[in-house]
Amino acid sequence: MIISEQKTKQELLELLDGMDRLFLVGCGACATACKAGGEDEVFQLQEWLGGEGKQVCGSLVIEEACHIMRAARDLRQHRSAIDEADALLVLACGAGIQSLSSATDKRVVGGLNSLFLGNVRRFGQYEEKCSLCGECILNETASICPVTNCAKGLLNGPCGGMEEGKCEANRELDCAWHLIFERLKKQNRKGVFSRIVAPKNWSKTGKPGRHKV
Ligand code: SF4
Ligand code: SF4
Repeated sequence: MIISEQKTKQELLELLDGMDRLFLVGCGACATACKAGGEDEVFQLQEWLGGEGKQVCGSLVIEEACHIMRAARDLRQHRSAIDEADALLVLACGAGIQSLSSATDKRVVGGLNSLFLGNVRRFGQYEEKCSLCGECILNETASICPVTNCAKGLLNGPCGGMEEGKCEANRELDCAWHLIFERLKKQNRKGVFSRIVAPKNWSKTGKPGRHKV
């Protein structure tokens, strides 16, 4: 899921300067799961905004803010409250914020920072395992991603700094390439070690730019 976090209260106050009436929107999917923009956070923000002298004209938690059609449909159902507002304050990832802004002419203020595609380690703890590079080599690396887990993103590791299986960049961490080697060995495979991997075609990430399929 997309991991996000709320902007600081100071940042929010600066962003909302001059806007006294707000309509709050949360997201029922990732932003709820990572406790950045679900029902609870929308309620807490509403309370805080009241204390800061702002009026909340209404609020809504959309099932999936990144679903463009559903977001537009849900906003339509709250048109009169939204009409009263100076702006929408949206607690969703960047994709959700843009769904909502495409469905209204009102000013939209994003209240979250989108951080990464995260695996859930346990409740409230997330870890990036995939950087969405667009050219996956997991089938050759025993399902350990060097692009994300190697501090240098090397495709032909390990580097000369690896020491006793630990990473040069942080000796507390295992070297990703050591882990790949050990897991391939257990599987009796050479995998990626049987060839020299060509430089990565970063154009596949589509960044900067955007994907549409
Ligand atoms: S190789 Fe690329 S697509 Fe595959 S897990 Fe790593 S970052 Fe993600
Ligand atoms: S020690 Fe391993 S994980 Fe660390 S930078 Fe070198 S190859 Fe990458």
